[in-house]
Amino acid sequence: MQVTLDKTQFIAALKRQWQGFGLQQAQDMTPHQWWQATSAALSEQLNAQPAPTATRQPQRHVNYISMEFLIGRLTANNLINLGWYDTVSQALKEQGVELADVLEQETDPALGNGGLGRLAACFLDSMATVGQPATGYGLNYQYGLFRQSFKEGQQQEAPDNWHRESYPWFSHNSALSVDVAFGGKLVKNAQGAEQWQPAFTLRGEAWDLPVVGYQNGVTQPLRLWQATDVHPFDLTLFNDGAFLKAEQKGIDAAKLTKVLYPNDNHDAGKRLRLMQQYFQCACSVADILRRHHFLGRAIQDLPDYEVIQLNDTHPTIAIPELLRILLDEHQLEWDAAWAIVQKTFAYTNHTLMPEALECWDEKLVRSLLPRHFSLIKAINARFKKVVEKQWPGDKAVWEKLSVHQNRQVRMANLCVVSGFAVNGVAALHSELVVKDLFPEYHQLWPNKFHNVTNGITPRRWLKQCNPALSALIDDTLKTEWVNNLDALQGLEPFADDAAFCQRYQQIKRDNKITLAAYVKQVTGIVLNPEAIFDVQIKRLHEYKRQHLNLLHILSLYRQLRDNPQRDMAPRVFLFGAKAAPGYYLAKNIIYAINQVAEKINHDPLVGDRLKVVFIPDYRVSVAELMIPAADVSEQISTAGKEASGTGNMKLALNGALTVGTLDGANVEIAEQVGEDNIFIFGNTVDQVKALQASGYDPLSIRKKDKHLDSILKELENGFFSNGDKQAFSLMLDSLLGGGDPYLVLADFADYCAAQQKVDALYRNSDEWTRKTILNTARVGMFSSDRSIRDYQQRIWQAKR
Ligand SMILES: *Cc1c(COP(=O)(O)O)cnc(C)c1O
Repeated sequence: MQVTLDKTQFIAALKRQWQGFGLQQAQDMTPHQWWQATSAALSEQLNAQPAPTATRQPQRHVNYISMEFLIGRLTANNLINLGWYDTVSQALKEQGVELADVLEQETDPALGNGGLGRLAACFLDSMATVGQPATGYGLNYQYGLFRQSFKEGQQQEAPDNWHRESYPWFSHNSALSVDVAFGGKLVKNAQGAEQWQPAFTLRGEAWDLPVVGYQNGVTQPLRLWQATDVHPFDLTLFNDGAFLKAEQKGIDAAKLTKVLYPNDNHDAGKRLRLMQQYFQCACSVADILRRHHFLGRAIQDLPDYEVIQLNDTHPTIAIPELLRILLDEHQLEWDAAWAIVQKTFAYTNHTLMPEALECWDEKLVRSLLPRHFSLIKAINARFKKVVEKQWPGDKAVWEKLSVHQNRQVRMANLCVVSGFAVNGVAALHSELVVKDLFPEYHQLWPNKFHNVTNGITPRRWLKQCNPALSALIDDTLKTEWVNNLDALQGLEPFADDAAFCQRYQQIKRDNKITLAAYVKQVTGIVLNPEAIFDVQIKRLHEYKRQHLNLLHILSLYRQLRDNPQRDMAPRVFLFGAKAAPGYYLAKNIIYAINQVAEKINHDPLVGDRLKVVFIPDYRVSVAELMIPAADVSEQISTAGKEASGTGNMKLALNGALTVGTLDGANVEIAEQVGEDNIFIFGNTVDQVKALQASGYDPLSIRKKDKHLDSILKELENGFFSNGDKQAFSLMLDSLLGGGDPYLVLADFADYCAAQQKVDALYRNSDEWTRKTILNTARVGMFSSDRSIRDYQQRIWQAKR
């Protein structure tokens, strides 16, 4: 069932919008007002659709709680999913306006850092599309991730005010507001039970964005909580000096949802962040329970109807929050309350890296959430008996498994102990979760652990971002593939069809020309569309090894100077990445790439053969431009470090060939596309472990590799930095200091060899095109629709 848009009604709604701006006629609108008016008119039309008659859902409702939703621009996406694109395009044309230009006016609502937030957005799209009833829960940050620019090669950060106040897709429902208490202390009541007397409360307002299923009439909410108001707690109950002080320590409410923490795979452990986490969880749990009660359901039956999926440990505090409500507000006994909690929560792990595993200082938790802290200790004490039974007297095991240890609360442990399911996000990662991170937990509860390989939505990451390729696929398959990505297998025979190959190739070329125009506009650099467009786009992090990519660029540059006649396919290296503002090494890597780019791009000897471009302010809308234009996809993390990756999937789907390590979902991509159609290199997980065990020694690698040594010398001697020998010392120390846990130099030679094969293959353009088509045809399993069906089967709807 599809909802229809009446063009006349849409035009009338549009008219109300420009009249609302105080204008005489549509033609007086600025381009931005066109976007604003179009989106608001569409939002109005969507909200006016009759609500589908509520059928009793046999499935549990999924509550997907995530600190981040990197949703990207909504207007284009909603038009496609609603099936309204052509009608609206036509209506605007009659006004002399191009829809595509209007859509370019939207600022990305950048409410996430990277992959984790983008995954949450893809999953919402897929849940609506496959008919999984769901609500997304997050925070409505006023400032998204910072805006990035470069000044003399250095990253500059500016606040990203994306103007949520005037974002037309929001609908606010004041009846859904939730008050959330903080601080204060615990007292004993007349029955001797612990009672929480908070110090202050904040109000959470619900701001909903529509999540539209693909042409199926489904719309469900992404509910983003926004802090607005402070209410001093009822001071007549209390008259205590400490209490007043606690109140003063409370913050100005509006500050709470002002900023998104710019962390990616790192735990900062800050008080305001914990407040954000609890605020989000308390609002969301209250909302879930309100719906449950409203539908006349008994509290004991909660897990039959609701599941709460925790996107990483950031929303873990929802666990003691639900327990608190069951015990303190519903007066349930511990066993009954705990049974409900245990059947309600499921946890997705996103990392094995110790620095990213959240631990909260006990003092912080106790002062902000005394009752929750007490419940966490109670959970831990009960869990200790389970461990004691399995491993009597084994202190080491207890220290590892305990939820509360060394004055720290460990969120991942709390999730595993409290939930009914734990999943990793790619086959390799899930295996390592069980083998390396949680082996004892796995021994205790083998059936709790699952794999669900991540996915991406084909709506945004093919149909929307690559319309030409989508049209070619429509033409060729003559079947709906947008919500059935396995259908792309039907393209395989066309990899040998000369006419199809030519059209596919031409589309890639056109996409490269479009990207080149953008690059020219934002950087002034002119690109040759005949060159290999080699793309690395992802947050800047040592484990993702943008600096390994840089070393290869330096190697090519060295070779070109040593042998100016060197035969090579021209290549453009394109980067997109933000570094967390406090992550100095990451920023130093950006600086190094920019300085090297500056030199290479201006070296007449190099000419068109080598260009290096760092596109500023990488975000979803920039990804949508870069991905369809990519020939090569750089997925070069140290094996065992990237949980899954999803950029790898987007790029392969759009016909880029992967240069990658056997890490994360690269392993499964290689299986799907076949080893002839991917460039795998580098140490495997087991080899990485062996290298580390035997004492990794980067200096001995350098000593044995004269070429590598000459490259490193140029970074050290100021050649790329106007004689400043310290310019890249942070990066160089990490590479050479001996402690590099990411083993960059250990993979350098093999990486260069893989790149040599890329160069040779690209020069055989027919073979190259054949392989890229096979990539598109064979990566259907990486649709997030498939991920959601896996969650349904293995976790949400599994027999309990
Ligand atoms: C897909 C995506 C990511 C994740 O990329 P990885 O390569 O998997 O780390 C990050 N940022 C944006 C904007 C994305 O679209």
